[in-house]
Formats: sequence, structure tokens, C-alpha cells
Amino acid sequence: MKYEITELDKLVEQLSSDVRELFKRFYSFDISTGTLKVPEEMEDWVKKRFGSVERVENQRIVSIKNKFTGEHSLFNKLRLDRPVDAKSAIALEELKGKGECLFCNPEKQTPTDVFGRVKGKNCITASNIAKYDSFHSLIIFNEHNPLTIKGEWIEDYLRTAERWFEEVCKSEEKELQKFFMWNCLWRSGASIIHGHIQLTASRMRYGKLEVLEKAMAEYEKEFKSDYIDDLYNVHKTLGLAKENKGERILFYLTPIKEKEIIVVSKARRSDGMADTIYELLKSYLDMGVQSFNLAIFQLGNYHIARLVDRGSLTDKNSDIGAMELYAASVISSDPFKLAQAI
Ligand SMILES: [Zn+2]
Repeated sequence: MKYEITELDKLVEQLSSDVRELFKRFYSFDISTGTLKVPEEMEDWVKKRFGSVERVENQRIVSIKNKFTGEHSLFNKLRLDRPVDAKSAIALEELKGKGECLFCNPEKQTPTDVFGRVKGKNCITASNIAKYDSFHSLIIFNEHNPLTIKGEWIEDYLRTAERWFEEVCKSEEKELQKFFMWNCLWRSGASIIHGHIQLTASRMRYGKLEVLEKAMAEYEKEFKSDYIDDLYNVHKTLGLAKENKGERILFYLTPIKEKEIIVVSKARRSDGMADTIYELLKSYLDMGVQSFNLAIFQLGNYHIARLVDRGSLTDKNSDIGAMELYAASVISSDPFKLAQAI
């Protein structure tokens, strides 16, 4: 049976009692209806825009929160009733310019790290000119267009990133924290169109990762069970999980923004996750995603990848406002539909 996030209450009721208990251990949720009155003069416009006046006058809202991490998402049925693969015209013209940008000529047009560059088959490293952290560099793809991807390229990007990380740790003679991120096109915060991944090696654990780590440790202490295993099982029993070559994929119940997916891997290095990441990015592109964020980091014995859709390249407004920055995430994509589409 196909479910929707707005029917989460019915779905949870159907779970066996032990699974339901596990769900309730992780999540608190509330389903309510927001009501309003549409004036006669607006009726035609509302029907054209939303299908019916009734749907707009009674809006079903799901509010769901992870009790351990505080991740909190709000889903409104009115915003969700769109096909997952709502493709819009991509500004393809703007992705051209191959051979003309700085990153098309990285050895002459980008700075190098003090230990030199790490070269892959399909990419090369550069030092970031204005750093977030004291070790902050780039994997610059040979391919200019960031929406052109291949599995072997992604493996090469990540393998080269791991080699860069090893170089930094070696030159510093200490263990640093690894954080890799791929901001794809301007909606995601990328300032340069040419495909690239950013790498940091930090002395200090980043705050948001530390919060996750603490939640995991406290969970293990209290329930004598692995946080990730249990989180995965909750998603799996709801039909929100898949596996690819032993890697666990979660269509996340409390996404930070649209279509968030989390990959949990026991791979020792991030390039071990390349196939799963490639398959998910390919699915993203197939369903019309044009701009995304991808982050890879270590948590305990796991490598974790998180990826999220940042919306259409033609939208001028940001997808993140005061709600997302200070309260909870407002979501227009249904994780149940996403799980069915991938
Ligand atoms: Zn370029």
C-alpha cells in the first residue's frame, strides 16, 4: 500500500507494537488542519492555482521531530501534491562556457596547496583562495558542466579527496576531521559553475556533527543499542529505506530541505560509497533536480553522506528563510513519494 507523509498517523497505527514503540522513541509528531476562508473574488485564481477551494480552506499539516537530534520538519499537503519529477526549464545556456572559466585551467588559474596538487584521472586539487577553515581545498573536475556525471568520475573525485586529506594529515602530523562537500550550482551556494567538491580538514569537530555524535552516544548509553541501526530500522519498516551494495539509504523523515537522503556506509574511505552516491545523484538528475548539496563526513565507525535538492535554477527566492535558520524546516517533498521514485 502506498502512503503519504500526511497519513503518517494511519501508517504508524498499523505497525507492530514493538516497531511502533521504536518509532515513538525517535519521533514525536502532530497532524493538524490549518483553515482559512477564500473570498468569492479569489475563487477562480485559487482553483487555477491549487485545484480546488476546499483544499486551500483546509490544509493538512504534519509536524515531525526527531527527539534526539532536534531535527524538525513541517509538511503541508497543499505543498506536497506535486509530482516528484516536476521538471522545469533549466538554464542550460548558463552552464556552457567550457574552456573559458578559471576552473577549466586550474594549474594556471587557481592557487596550490603548500604540499602541491593531488591529481586524479578526472580531477585535480587546488587550494581554496578564501578559506572557511585553515585546511580548505577543492577537487576541480576535468568536466566543466557539473550536471554531467559518471560513476567512475565520482569514484575518482572521492579517491583524490581522500588522498588530499591524507596529505594534510601527514604534513600536520596529526589526525584531523574530514569534511567533504559538493555544492552544485548557484541555488546550493556554489559561486562557480564548473563542477567542484570542497574539502576541509579541521582541528575542531564541527558543531552540528558534534550534536549528532552526542545524540548517538546518549542513545547508546540509554537504550544499549546502536542509534544508526535503530534509525534505519524505523525508516525500513515505514518503507523509507533501501540498500545498495550493503550501504543503507534513508529517505529521511525529518529532512533539512527537499528530498533529503542519507547514506550510511561502513566503507573505510568515502570512495567506497561512490557507486551509491552516483546512483542517487543520477536519480536526482532524472527527476529534474538541478542544484544540490552533498556532504560526506565520519560519524563513529560510519561514513555518512547527506544530499538535498535546492530547487529550480530559475527561482529567484531562496528556499531557506527564518523558519529553517531558527525553528524547523518547511518541506514540499514527500519522503514516501521519493522512496517510491528511487
Ligand atoms: Zn570550466
